[in-house]
Amino acid sequence: MVGNGSLFENVLSIFDSAADILKLHKELREVIKNIKRESRVSFSVGMDNGQVKTFTGFRVQHNSARGPTKGGTRYSPNMDIDEIRGLAFLMTLKCALVNLPFGGAKGGVVCDPKKLSKAELKKITRRYINEISFMIGPKEDILGPDMGTTQETMGWVMDTYSTEKGYPVPEIATGKPISLGGTLGRREATGRGVALVIEKFAKNQGMSPEKTSVAIHGFGNVGSIAAEFLDKKGFKVVAVSNTKGGIYNEKGLDIPKLTGQYKESGEFPKKLGAKISNEKLLSLDVDILIPAAMENQIHKGNMRKIMAKIICEGANGPLTPEADNYLTNKKVKIIPDILANSGGVIVSYFEWVQNLQKLFWSEEEVCEKMDKILLSNFEKIFDLAKKEKITLRMAAYVIAIERISRAILDRGICEVY
Ligand code: NAD
Repeated sequence: MVGNGSLFENVLSIFDSAADILKLHKELREVIKNIKRESRVSFSVGMDNGQVKTFTGFRVQHNSARGPTKGGTRYSPNMDIDEIRGLAFLMTLKCALVNLPFGGAKGGVVCDPKKLSKAELKKITRRYINEISFMIGPKEDILGPDMGTTQETMGWVMDTYSTEKGYPVPEIATGKPISLGGTLGRREATGRGVALVIEKFAKNQGMSPEKTSVAIHGFGNVGSIAAEFLDKKGFKVVAVSNTKGGIYNEKGLDIPKLTGQYKESGEFPKKLGAKISNEKLLSLDVDILIPAAMENQIHKGNMRKIMAKIICEGANGPLTPEADNYLTNKKVKIIPDILANSGGVIVSYFEWVQNLQKLFWSEEEVCEKMDKILLSNFEKIFDLAKKEKITLRMAAYVIAIERISRAILDRGICEVY
């Protein structure tokens, strides 16, 4: 496994390694590696200061062999289409791994949501949806939130699409406010899933939560909720961070207090621990490191400094293939993104199903069903990794690729495995 390029190149390189294990025919490889459909759109919005600004957006549908495509919407200033292609490919693999009837997609707008007002963000969202509405739909391609977008954004997505159609279409997006058909348990799903997978892994390794230290890089939706649930399960969360840096307490952070104050001020309360840089946080000598910020955060430049024994990928693609290879050779155990953060898409699927059926499930029902899917797939990956003597990432990719390939063969698109 080589390469330190874009997220798309990285996913392609991991895919090839797993396809080699499977001895996958080159025709099937080509079908899966190619993007099915993608759009780059440009649109202009009147800003609060009276000026008109032009934005670029993308929507990429990677593969729909197993069902309509599904994927988040990212608002980020440094985004390019290769990042979105990589994220869409990961969605195809993730949905197949947890056996949801979805293919993978991703989209977004190049913008910095922190520098935009609510009115500007709403206009950007509406224009973006207008531009891509020809290629999305509840049976074609379903949206959801990702970095830089929220429940509120998904409410605007649902409203814009519904206005175009002339009737309400809640099934067009997941992660919506409850008032618009959002499901209970979606906001917590990804972080709760990360914590659940870690609990299961630690149990398998004979580790006791109280003696297990955890550092979390990125304290957003995924990172902060993983911290909350790990803390509840008794793990010792010693460090968390955001783009500006983080906070560290060797004895364990008071997570409920920290979270409460962070929500109010956007700052980590100084009294609860010492300041720590992101670079230092990533190299802490902890039992578990959760990179939960964004892709390519552990790379050639910092991989030698990583001291954690276990890495659980909260973010999508946080390790470059080179770092993955290096750390695997150092016997660091890596729980791959497509399993670790799949709680989000599992509950998004539940939201879509409830919307289609006009039903509402209790939070208990949602959590119980999610845990069942996540834990049974965890077992499958572990068993395969052990049996074939391969990494957890390779095992996860092998299971996902087998399922995608099966669908392609059964559709008659390809005749050879
Ligand atoms: P978010 O925007 O809510 O949070 C991101 C956090 O990371 C913020 O605290 C931000 O300050 C921090 N951050 C960003 N860049 C950083 C950097 N370079 N160094 C340190 N901190 C940094 O986003 P999120 O929804 O939590 O998503 C995080 C990752 O998880 C992304 O890779 C996303 O694709 C993935 N993911 C999210 C979900 C979900 O349901 N939200 C589901 C699956 C995967």
